[in-house]
Amino acid sequence: MAFTDKIYVKNHRQLAAQLETSLPKGAFAGATLDLLFTGDELAGLDAATRDRVLDFAEDFLDCDCQSNPYCGCPEEKFIGYVLELRAEGLGPQAIVDVMTDEYMVYAYTGDVRSFLDDAVRQLEAVETLAAVEDRTEMAERARRARRELTG
Ligand SMILES: [Zn+2]
Repeated sequence: MAFTDKIYVKNHRQLAAQLETSLPKGAFAGATLDLLFTGDELAGLDAATRDRVLDFAEDFLDCDCQSNPYCGCPEEKFIGYVLELRAEGLGPQAIVDVMTDEYMVYAYTGDVRSFLDDAVRQLEAVETLAAVEDRTEMAERARRARRELTG
């Protein structure tokens, strides 16, 4: 299961009630993305909720790909967003708090932690491989990124 499959819509039941439609819990589930992408249904939401939902759509669903929102960019952007928060020094719980505050989505702290651990391990692998292949610039980039994530 991808990390973005474990990002959930906060208060998703109230949201679904306001929208008078069924809504999957997963923020990146197809039906959720469809809803965000078309946008016309969102008029039923209260202002605070609508702002956050629109922010989410603007920040993560704004690419020009033909297959938007199924092109993979939303997930990729969201992952970049989480890594950036980590690079700013936030821990898993603080990252969850920020994403809820900004976009009304959440994840379980444990899932964020293992995602970050995986990211660090991947960077370590890149670093090692690049060093073996004498690609010093790539190795250095991976090392820097890893240091950002581990603080
Ligand atoms: Zn795209």
